[in-house]
Amino acid sequence: MTSTEVLEHVQEDTTDDAPELFHYVRKAKIAESAVLGNWVVALCGETFPVTKAAKPGSPVCPDCKKIFDAMPKGGK
Ligand SMILES: [Zn+2]
Repeated sequence: MTSTEVLEHVQEDTTDDAPELFHYVRKAKIAESAVLGNWVVALCGETFPVTKAAKPGSPVCPDCKKIFDAMPKGGK
């Protein structure tokens, strides 16, 4: 079973002029958030409400990327 390991980019809901970042979030968490309205937890530990889909060209959270790159490929 690897379906729960699929990750998506989700934009953090920034409220000020901080740069918009995308975090890696497990798809299962995104689905859960859509149903329950709760916040999601990114790989880096950041928690935020899912507001937007990924927009091309926006930077990816460096912490999420580092963790994602360190994850074993091909599932288990
Ligand atoms: Zn992150």
